[in-house]
Amino acid sequence: MSDCIFCKIANKEIPSEILYEDDQILAFKDINPIAPVHLLVIPKKHIISVNDIVDEDTEVIGNIFIVIKKLAQQQGIAESGYRVITNIGRDGGQEVKHLHFHLIGGKELGKKIG
Ligand code: AMP
Ligand code: ZN
Repeated sequence: MSDCIFCKIANKEIPSEILYEDDQILAFKDINPIAPVHLLVIPKKHIISVNDIVDEDTEVIGNIFIVIKKLAQQQGIAESGYRVITNIGRDGGQEVKHLHFHLIGGKELGKKIG
């Protein structure tokens, strides 16, 4: 989608610090990190949110979690633990309307999620 910031990142129209890329998936550093490790993992396909996932997306969504697992290992936080978050819609606080999974860790995150 032409006016979507994450589509532009996926198309390399906007620079980002990429840590992983394949034909379906991109992982890059969040520009405003809330923890020592704060990455975003996205499908290159423009899917707005979890609400918009369809059956044909099953493979890419599954693969995203394999990428998340490997990135957590590479970042050295697999053992200490981390959090994976996807915000959906207004009440979920979603700012960028392109499905993304926050991978956050490298410090004690506490019990609160809201
Ligand atoms: P959300 O509130 O779940 O939609 O989160 C959007 C995230 O995208 C925020 O954590 C932003 O810091 C991040 N973000 C926005 N623009 C960029 C960008 N150009 N490069 C990297 N991260 C970005
Ligand atoms: Zn998009």
